Amino acid sequence: MDCLFCKIAAGEIPSKKVYEDEVAFAFLDISPWQEGHTLVVPKRHIADVLADDDVLAEIAPAVARVGRLLIDKLGADACNVVSNAGAASGQEVFHAHVHVLPRWASNPGVG
Ligand code: 5GP
Ligand code: ZN
Repeated sequence: MDCLFCKIAAGEIPSKKVYEDEVAFAFLDISPWQEGHTLVVPKRHIADVLADDDVLAEIAPAVARVGRLLIDKLGADACNVVSNAGAASGQEVFHAHVHVLPRWASNPGVG
């Protein structure tokens, strides 16, 4: 399958890995909205997080671990956890992914 995030999750395209388990792979976003911006993807191909009943639950442990890891390692105070599902939501890569964005109280930024 010619899918960018399938290839990243399989290690066929290089990425900066943040976390991996049996079902999920997490890596730094190539155009980060802020430091530590990480994408968590299922290893199996599925178009978005609403495409079946199971995908969100499958990657939920990885999302939680990545969020805690970013808070620990980067000294962040919080995280935004967000997923675009469908083109009109802003989704550009059609392999499900969750954005995990560390946030600092001292630099609230936008959103
Ligand atoms: P979306 O808009 O689909 O929710 O988010 C897709 C994200 O994938 C964007 O934030 C974009 O920067 C990121 N992205 C696109 N291509 C690559 C890539 O080749 N490598 C990495 N690490 N991130 C990518
Ligand atoms: Zn894919």
